[in-house]
Amino acid sequence: MLALVGKLVDYRSVRNGAVIVEDNIIRAVVPVEELREWGVDEVYGGENYLVIPGLINAHTHVAMAKFRGLGEDLPTEEWLEKIIWPMELEWTRREIRKWAEIGIKEALMNGSTTINDHYFFADEIAKVAERLGVRAFIGQTVMDEVDFSPASPDEGFRFFRRWQNKSELVKLTLAPHATNTVSLDLLREIAELSEETGARVHIHLAQSRAEVSEVRRRYGLSPVGLLERAGLLNGRLIGVHGVYLDDSDFRSLAKAGPSLVHCPTSNVKLEAQTVNLRKLLDLGLNVALGNDSPNPTGILDPFLEMRTAGIVANLTAGRAHAVPARELFGMATVRGAHALGLKAGLIEPGYLADLVLINADKPWFRPIENVYSLLVYSVRGSDVEKVVVNGRPVHRKIY
Ligand SMILES: [Zn+2]
Repeated sequence: MLALVGKLVDYRSVRNGAVIVEDNIIRAVVPVEELREWGVDEVYGGENYLVIPGLINAHTHVAMAKFRGLGEDLPTEEWLEKIIWPMELEWTRREIRKWAEIGIKEALMNGSTTINDHYFFADEIAKVAERLGVRAFIGQTVMDEVDFSPASPDEGFRFFRRWQNKSELVKLTLAPHATNTVSLDLLREIAELSEETGARVHIHLAQSRAEVSEVRRRYGLSPVGLLERAGLLNGRLIGVHGVYLDDSDFRSLAKAGPSLVHCPTSNVKLEAQTVNLRKLLDLGLNVALGNDSPNPTGILDPFLEMRTAGIVANLTAGRAHAVPARELFGMATVRGAHALGLKAGLIEPGYLADLVLINADKPWFRPIENVYSLLVYSVRGSDVEKVVVNGRPVHRKIY
């Protein structure tokens, strides 16, 4: 058994105490004075520490750490054509392993205990995730409207079958690339497999103008309309970005109950666009947060993403304080867990023991009053000191 001690902060409450972890579960939350009675083997934290649920990075491409900063100032299309796509043709399995390790360590060190990754060579990424001890939802990116052999549907389905029920930490998603790069037939096949297995479907949705116009031209539908026709619009869908959704799309989404992953840094940097977060939350949609890839975001740091989401939400809502810090923190924790179907994201007995310890003995944590505001606007990933995933301290493997 181990325990984490400090100010315990989750979406529901803020209290001082100790979290007792047994096996992979939170066993109890107790006052510090009672800690001795539990006979725990290891205690982390103490006064001047914050304990929070591990953050859920609901959309990543960890291996793309390899492209960090490259072609930074090129227009998006040119950046894809000149830098990203040629380099993606040159991937080897060894290189994928090397860069997935860098990306996953980066995610863990910055407080993400769960990643939801979407990329080619998923087999290698899954192996690295398991070895480093991150909770990982891994989807092998597939497309059939674009000729790119690492994204072949057959390989995607083979990966899915190979890793089904194989690992405690690595779970699978079905990962069609986007609504304009995957055919309606393949989307339907994926919908059937999701229905049969209960797997989440993780897809880029209304990410670019080109995607929306291509889908309109081909089917006379919006990207959301296409997903509905394919049988994918349900609670297992995780749509990412959604920056070109219109009001009728929002209504369809709100009715069907999927999750949307908001990646504000990536959206503003690559598309100079974003979603109206306040509006999505008011419609009752489950919105999670993701860093997207280390390029263009710069770093896999979920604290920076919460902060950006809060600031950008004011711009789109046209008013200050559009989304309170506590709600932003909820998106990075319990709402992310809901998107992935995990009993995680809260510090409560029976929840998965995915926890992060933050050293708050620093000037930017004073005064420790409004801790939600501190977590969103003052904390950076580098303030994370210990990381526990599935009840195991993983920081020893990453530092
Ligand atoms: Zn992405």
